Amino acid sequence: MAAKKDFDVVIAGGGLVGLSLAAVLGKAGFRVAVLEARQADFDWPQGSIDLRVYAITRASQSLFVDAGIWPAVQANAAPFREMRVWDASGSGDIHFDSAELGEPCLGHILESRVIEKALVDVVADLPGVSLFCPARAKAFDEQGERQQVELQDGQLLGARLLVGADGKDSMVRGYAGIHARVSDYGQQALVAVVATQYPHAETAWQRFLPTGPLAFLPLADGRCSIVWSADSGEARRLMELDDAGFCAALGEAFDHRLGEVLECGERLMLPLRRQYAERYVAPRLALVGDACHVVHPLAGQGVNLGLKDARELADTLLQARAKERDIGSLPVLRRYERARKGDNLATMLVMDGFKHLFGSRVAPLRWARNLGLNLVDAAPPVKNQIMRAAMGL
Ligand SMILES: Cc1cc2nc3c(=O)[nH]c(=O)nc-3n(C[C@H](O)[C@H](O)[C@H](O)COP(=O)(O)OP(=O)(O)OC[C@H]3O[C@@H](n4cnc5c(N)ncnc54)[C@H](O)[C@@H]3O)c2cc1C
Repeated sequence: MAAKKDFDVVIAGGGLVGLSLAAVLGKAGFRVAVLEARQADFDWPQGSIDLRVYAITRASQSLFVDAGIWPAVQANAAPFREMRVWDASGSGDIHFDSAELGEPCLGHILESRVIEKALVDVVADLPGVSLFCPARAKAFDEQGERQQVELQDGQLLGARLLVGADGKDSMVRGYAGIHARVSDYGQQALVAVVATQYPHAETAWQRFLPTGPLAFLPLADGRCSIVWSADSGEARRLMELDDAGFCAALGEAFDHRLGEVLECGERLMLPLRRQYAERYVAPRLALVGDACHVVHPLAGQGVNLGLKDARELADTLLQARAKERDIGSLPVLRRYERARKGDNLATMLVMDGFKHLFGSRVAPLRWARNLGLNLVDAAPPVKNQIMRAAMGL
């Protein structure tokens, strides 16, 4: 049998959340193993844009500063200073401007692969962090004060804490017997990179259509990344259109706010579901990111919530270590769960509320949402609160 390698923490899943947690813990002197099944290709053609693009909040930016990747990603980060949200079936319109808060921007648009590459580079330089990639966790076994993890190639790793950062179909969650409540939105998100007639003006745009929200996110090269959520049948119809037909449909759905849509790259369709785990922790085990919550992408909060989990769990472990407490013990881990569960659930419910409110064709609801948007737009204190929450501040 292979000799067991020993760590403080084993993180199953090296997506953005798992890698960020590893970077912060590694910098604080923890011995960390990260297991990632997928071998990423960081050799992308110049001028290409990843289809996975995120609106990164100011709170996530501060985690990236602490993780040591912000200098590496900043050149590719497109700041958005304004946000415009409006309703397709009425006159509701709201405009957020970072200048009203005295802030330089509301957040940044960043490609997933740019963040991932910077994180991999940082953890590679941390002596306490070992990245096993490609490596898939195969089995877990709690053995008294340690968790044992067996990799598919037979290697054995031991740690005081196992973290499941392995995404929405989390194997760690399944191993712990933690139930996840899943509901299918019956929608797909269609993502693509497009060129528009008029400049995006460093603004994140979102139009609520009866079939689902359509977002245009401003990219550093002047193009936009779109996320068009639609009922599955409609999404399939849009996928089947040729490029010219799709650009025309997109321009119309977007109210031609940026003129004509001139060009569209590859299109990708992703199923949307809402999911939350009933518990985030068990003895010697914690879940972070999509492993414990999946939200509708309409406000671009998914990875940002996961990064808040990573920050909170890292703080919890640092405090436990300072007090010489066992980092894998349930009372310690419950502190993390208490701190994050409420915020994640509240965000999920707000996203759901928006989805249903804006998806409704019922006249009083249409009237209420138009009035609501216009009232909020005219009430700076409320608007500023919403802006701060959206920035993760
Ligand atoms: C269309 C769309 C648009 C979105 N836009 C935004 C946005 O603008 N802003 C935002 O904040 N969020 C957005 N999200 C949400 C965001 O994509 C997710 O919340 C985020 O990717 C979750 O990160 P994660 O690290 O928790 O999980 P993942 O990204 O799923 O990473 C999990 C990793 O674990 C690995 N893994 C799984 N099982 C194993 C195993 N057994 N052993 C080893 N490795 C394993 C996988 O290979 C994977 O790399 C969007 C989502 C969608 C669908």
